[in-house]
Amino acid sequence: MVQFESEAREFLLTRRHRLRQHSRTAGAASGSHWFDTEAIPEPVGEEVRRELAEIEAALRRIEQGSYGTCLACGGPMGLQRMRAIPEARYCVGCSGQVSEGP
Ligand SMILES: [Zn+2]
Repeated sequence: MVQFESEAREFLLTRRHRLRQHSRTAGAASGSHWFDTEAIPEPVGEEVRRELAEIEAALRRIEQGSYGTCLACGGPMGLQRMRAIPEARYCVGCSGQVSEGP
């Protein structure tokens, strides 16, 4: 596993853990602190479930060795994009054509 994959894996595992905690306490918690660099938008629930699914998929791709490869064109997504959006499935070019995040 290359360096950026293990970094991404750490990040994804941490975020999955926090999302799971939050999804269990959703509605009860307020003013909770989220991942340092990122604010998770409200409302949670469907959003959290969807993000958990994205994270699971990204973790599977890391284990299968296809992480960092665009699912649409098969090209490399680039280190910068993977650091910005570790669960990204498409490269910058393809993400403009499918509806997936920034
Ligand atoms: Zn692509």
